Amino acid sequence: MTPIIIPIFLPHLGCRQHCLFCNQRATVKEVPSPQLVQELIETSLSHVPSQPGEREKQVAFYGGSFTAMDRETQVSYLKEARPFLSAGRIDSVRLSTRPDALNETTLPMLKEYGVKTVEVGAQSMVDEVLLLSRRGHRAKDTVSAVLRLKRRGVEVGVHLMIGLPGDTCDDFLRSLDQIIELRPDFVRIHPALVLKGAPLEVLWRSGKYSPLPLNQAVEWLKRGIPKLEKGGIRIARIGIQPTAELEAHFLAGPYHPAFHQLVDSAIFYDMAEHMLRNDPNGSQPVLVCYSKDLSSLRGQRNKNLLKLRERFGFQDIRIETNEGVRKGSLFLKTSSGIFCMDRQELAVEGPPLVTGHPRESLVNSEKFLSRLMAQDKFYQSSSSPDVNRGPEKACLQE
Ligand code: SF4
Repeated sequence: MTPIIIPIFLPHLGCRQHCLFCNQRATVKEVPSPQLVQELIETSLSHVPSQPGEREKQVAFYGGSFTAMDRETQVSYLKEARPFLSAGRIDSVRLSTRPDALNETTLPMLKEYGVKTVEVGAQSMVDEVLLLSRRGHRAKDTVSAVLRLKRRGVEVGVHLMIGLPGDTCDDFLRSLDQIIELRPDFVRIHPALVLKGAPLEVLWRSGKYSPLPLNQAVEWLKRGIPKLEKGGIRIARIGIQPTAELEAHFLAGPYHPAFHQLVDSAIFYDMAEHMLRNDPNGSQPVLVCYSKDLSSLRGQRNKNLLKLRERFGFQDIRIETNEGVRKGSLFLKTSSGIFCMDRQELAVEGPPLVTGHPRESLVNSEKFLSRLMAQDKFYQSSSSPDVNRGPEKACLQE
């Protein structure tokens, strides 16, 4: 269960230089002093539901490079959270920082002050991209930071960006592979935007930097997200949280308030497209998904359905929801039979796996599976070498 975050923003505190893409003042204007921290926590706690259930409450120091500040300043902020920890009013502390500011002497101090989670600003695992973005660290610093935090039992999040100067889709996918190998607890991915006041604004205005178009950003993530999911890495956020300050500073780049949903819709389009392509003789298609995936499957203003109808020449493609289908999986019923696949299959090299037998990992209940199997014959396309013929259980959900 995700924790309730009580954010304290410390814009640019601890920053050693100005990264090209960054203007933290676009999200928060004032830097709160340590003396204000307790008041901010009290105010946030007054808005937390009195019965938060099992959810953990975490004070989060965001917005700068926390561990790059001098030790005294770090302690002056951390100690303000202590009374809340001791009284059990919050459960732990999290902070964000640079990968090259996490040394062996810092970590025991963080643990002593209740820091449970550290979010590491990796941004890319390609040194050239880091250099062009004026990050001032290398990919190997991220490797050391994540491993060091994990060794100390600290929960680790990694921030990545797409579309930085010099970045390519292949670089991004390679960065993801390296991050997956490091096995952080979660990942956040932000698109690089041109913000008023960030150094990137100058490059953009002089025509030396072009941000990633929105459709390409979606394309990159459509390829990357299934990799993370297959690798079992939790995705804490895709895209940037829309705020009034951000919108006031936004100049150019792949910003969309429903960015995550655009990516999910593109993933569902690809799944439907692969399955329909695997069944060239089928007619009367019906796509079946979990209810919470319905809007992603349809796409904004039914865009996915319209595209699929045009692509395959169907008059109509019906959509059904069924709680028996596991979230992220998709079934296709046609005159030929039933096919299914999971979005993680898009992470494989080459054609993704489409099965003619409903796999148990893609459905929520045995009952749903047995009803399907009793009612329909299953079709295996002999022309598709990537079709798995085994009666797998991979499509079911208990
Ligand atoms: S990205 Fe992080 S390190 Fe770079 S300027 Fe912004 S807050 Fe500082």
